[in-house]
Amino acid sequence: MLIVQKFGGTSVGDLERIQNVASRVSSSKKDGHDIVVVVSAMSGETNKLVGYAEHFSKTPNGAEMDMLLSSGERVTASLLAIALTELGHNAVAMTGQKAGIVTDNHHTKARIEEINPQNMQNSLNEGKIVVVAGFQGVNAMGDVTTLGRGGSDLSAVAIAGALKADLCEIYTDVSGIYTTDPRIEPKAKKLDKISYDEMLELASLGAKVLQNRSVEMAKKLDVNLVTRTSFSHEEGTLITKEENIMEAPLVSGIALDRNQARISLMGVKDRTGIASDIFNKLANSEVNVDMIIQNKAHDGATNIDFTVPVSDIQDAKIVVDSFVNNGEIQADSYNEEICKVSVVGVGMRSHTGVAAKAFSTMADNNININMISTSEIKISMVIDEKYAELAVRGLHDAYELDK
Ligand code: ADP
Ligand code: ASP
Ligand code: MG
Repeated sequence: MLIVQKFGGTSVGDLERIQNVASRVSSSKKDGHDIVVVVSAMSGETNKLVGYAEHFSKTPNGAEMDMLLSSGERVTASLLAIALTELGHNAVAMTGQKAGIVTDNHHTKARIEEINPQNMQNSLNEGKIVVVAGFQGVNAMGDVTTLGRGGSDLSAVAIAGALKADLCEIYTDVSGIYTTDPRIEPKAKKLDKISYDEMLELASLGAKVLQNRSVEMAKKLDVNLVTRTSFSHEEGTLITKEENIMEAPLVSGIALDRNQARISLMGVKDRTGIASDIFNKLANSEVNVDMIIQNKAHDGATNIDFTVPVSDIQDAKIVVDSFVNNGEIQADSYNEEICKVSVVGVGMRSHTGVAAKAFSTMADNNININMISTSEIKISMVIDEKYAELAVRGLHDAYELDK
């Protein structure tokens, strides 16, 4: 079999753990498999590098950020290849560029455009273990780019797709996908299987165990994706097509996203096209808008509230200021003390009352809901951040996910 194995930050968090990864990879190779390993930076390393840049600038240049941030993954890829060689294997470390990962030009959140797997394939043909630095690629001009936070998951899935690997294993610090973050709700249960669509919702709604674009890519390329722990040999969770799951549960999981901010625009001029102007400008500035609420207009003015990731606030403010300056918005305010809790499950499609139960759970816990949005397979609520954990545990209980 050809297996892509990705090891996250905690799994390569210190030299002893890198040694442990080397032993695991070594035994898979000895079992007769061809192995491509994708590694993250050591845990905390990327945040440390971001902090270094922020010491000098609030808005550092994207190209320099990518050169800086991509260095963390190069360290672990080289060290792991050295450790594997010492164990008697033929191993080669590659940057994203050497692995043939070509992206667009959106520094710090680049999209993969194509993968030219020739270098990786040649090394595999020579019997080598290929170790790729995750989270990075190269644009058409040859500048290094990075794929957004958590992007090593995407590197692994994309490589598995390009090489038509039999399996892509994501090794992390929990033993699979749980009904909710086991660090918040110790009663959370590990799922044997979950559908791509549910996993995509959970990941997009804050469950950082898999980067959302990696799940999207796995679905598109039909990659057999397994999440498991690098600290034991416990079986993990298979992320697969919905038809491979016999009994779809009503609710599969609860997700929490603390990284949301609410932007309130007051006294917005009530003219045709104003929402289109504001939100097009936000989109052009790459601001990721999620929920939007517009109130009924009074005296020619209305209020619009929307949520964005905390990291997009600066860019959003520049856009909002341009409307404040031309008099079309009277006042703006920014609230980072909010979070979004979501209930996800494909079973909701065919059942009523799922949303009502979420709302009454909030009411029973005296939690005020600020915003609501729903889709076929999810219900999301914006609430004050101080109630985040209470809400997650309350919902986990209400849908009996520990049973
Ligand atoms: P890595 O560094 O290996 O990429 P991450 O920190 O990105 O690992 O993701 C793993 C973490 O995701 C876990 O430690 C856990 O706290 C969190 N997590 C959030 N939601 C879930 C969930 N539903 N199931 C499992 N883990 C979850
Ligand atoms: N090191 C990067 C991050 O912390 C990428 C990753 O770990 O997947 O976001
Ligand atoms: Mg991760």
